[in-house]
Amino acid sequence: MTVQCCQCKKIRVANKWKRATVASNEAVSHSYCPACLARCLTEIRRESSVRRVVPADLPA
Ligand SMILES: [Zn+2]
Repeated sequence: MTVQCCQCKKIRVANKWKRATVASNEAVSHSYCPACLARCLTEIRRESSVRRVVPADLPA
């Protein structure tokens, strides 16, 4: 199973994120690489602060 970042399309290889092409016959699971996850969390936090809602299940 290949894990691909759904934002920047990098794939995870041995815990490193690389820009690479996924073979069309490979099963792909979509996730976030650390960079995109951080950016995404920042956006979620900004949204939540506007709405005054604190997501309970986000890492600090
Ligand atoms: Zn990414």
